[in-house]
Amino acid sequence: MRLSQFHLHTSKETPAEAELASHKLMLKAGMIRKLAAGLYTWSPLGLRVLRKVEQVVREEMDAAGAVELLMPAVQPRELWEETDRWEKFGGQLLKMQDRKDAWYCYGPTHEEVITDFARHELASYKQLPVTFYQIQTKFRDEIRPRFGVMRAREFLMKDAYSFHISDEDLGREYRNMYDTYCRIFSRLGLQYRAVYADTGSIGGSASHEFHVLADSGEDALAYSSDSDYAANVELAEALPTGERHAAEEDLREVETPTQKTCEAVAALLGLGLERTVKSIALMGADAGGAPLFVLALVRGDHVLNEIKLAKVPGLEAHRLASEAEIEAHLGSTPGFLGPVNPRAPIRVVADRSVAAMADFVVGANRPGYHLAGVNWGRDLPEPDAVADIRNVVEGDLSPDRHGTLALCRGIEVGHVFQLGRKYAEAMKCTVLDETGKASVPAMGCYGIGVSRIVAAAIEQNHDANGIRWPEAMAPWRAVVCMINPKKDPAVTEAAEALYRDLNAAGVETVLDDRGLRPGAMFADIELIGIPHRVVVSGRGLESGTYEYRARQAEDTENLDRDALFRRLS
Ligand code: ATP
Ligand code: MG
Ligand code: MG
Ligand code: MG
Repeated sequence: MRLSQFHLHTSKETPAEAELASHKLMLKAGMIRKLAAGLYTWSPLGLRVLRKVEQVVREEMDAAGAVELLMPAVQPRELWEETDRWEKFGGQLLKMQDRKDAWYCYGPTHEEVITDFARHELASYKQLPVTFYQIQTKFRDEIRPRFGVMRAREFLMKDAYSFHISDEDLGREYRNMYDTYCRIFSRLGLQYRAVYADTGSIGGSASHEFHVLADSGEDALAYSSDSDYAANVELAEALPTGERHAAEEDLREVETPTQKTCEAVAALLGLGLERTVKSIALMGADAGGAPLFVLALVRGDHVLNEIKLAKVPGLEAHRLASEAEIEAHLGSTPGFLGPVNPRAPIRVVADRSVAAMADFVVGANRPGYHLAGVNWGRDLPEPDAVADIRNVVEGDLSPDRHGTLALCRGIEVGHVFQLGRKYAEAMKCTVLDETGKASVPAMGCYGIGVSRIVAAAIEQNHDANGIRWPEAMAPWRAVVCMINPKKDPAVTEAAEALYRDLNAAGVETVLDDRGLRPGAMFADIELIGIPHRVVVSGRGLESGTYEYRARQAEDTENLDRDALFRRLS
């Protein structure tokens, strides 16, 4: 590729609307252009990188024995009613009607479609196990699309689904996919961590997320100093998938200050049990475990990652009706101290995911939040279904009792999940087992945020001058630049030849033949993050060398042709 024939469109301006380095750099480098909230065009440059990620994912999925297919993005309502997710999935589900007034959604995920495929195509245990995958555009109507393609509404996902005759075999494939994900993220050159993500009703260690480690990450992770224990400190992950999706959207702020809290609680009660509260704070439950109210303490915009679940002793028996009662109750509940920061406004936020949370009271005890010094087991009973996700304070004993916990932040780029038989059962998907009996297959699902990875990689790999792509993701591995080609035809000739020879030697190389002055040319090349830069100049030609610089190196080196090819091969 020659840059003169490629559409490179960089910008010197730092885009004001972008908060994250990756978002700024993707805009400056001209990788993406915003069309509307959460909708982006991938420019030719951006697309090259996206395809690189896709390619690594595809190769590793194929090598792991998964088979690729492609499902429709648009899905009929009836399928989603079979699994009861048409309503439950909540506001992230973009619904639309065709000319005959039939309802469809734009797929945010494909459990329903793949299960429909399976119930028609899989008849016998002999066809199992099988893992299908696709790399496809998803749409989720996120409440707050932000950070460019990091949290977009339309984005590219690799989603895979496996079918098994036994739970043991599901466990085996889950491990296989887990290992495959490790290979994918290692090949992409990312620093990542696999963390335990609780699955609520499913329980056990049936779900892991893969996070690219970055201070700007939206998720808080806790990990042990001395063992492999690592978990996402996130309420949402303690809910089953369906509810989890519901919990993440449709946040409705009811009111702000404390005195309004009671009214809001009453309003919530008035709504019956369809609505619960999002985020942190307190949720009562009656003796039967049905929730009475939920309060949320929301500070700034950051709530999701500080959430913990706990059951407060004694609270279940009370139906709280007034603020005084609530406060009295808080006062008599060990560990509940009220807002640590009195200026932190209490807001009540509601969504529709009450069912899954019915048994829990929600609280958080990170320093600065509204619970301080609460210890599981001592002050609050250990909630069974979330035994592995703990209130986490830096320095706490790790739940596996090896080492102490540290916190870090991560960007969720992958998620593996043992679904069990929930979808297959709901959709009456069966296969004949060895004895000829109809049997509901166990399922796993495995997602990777292909487009998010591009942004996550930049968060981890950039400097003041621009992006520093890991080799596997770079738009090109090397660039050949020419100095003063107009004055010196020998430079053009030598650069053209080097460009051809490098490509012939298997080094994916682009030729910068745009005729820019060196300063502007080098600035662009650094901004777009090409790992290896080779400069052809009249002076270099005289001494028989090329000027070479690795993107992350401080200095340039003069290399002869052999040394250059050795360096790049
Ligand atoms: P998040 O917690 O960030 O909202 P999720 O848990 O809702 O993600 P999954 O349902 O697990 O996402 O989907 C699989 C993968 O798709 C995620 O691990 C993530 O990398 C990616 N993904 C999810 N939502 C988005 C989005 N809005 N924009 C870009 N990528 C996304
Ligand atoms: Mg989400
Ligand atoms: Mg998540
Ligand atoms: Mg997830």
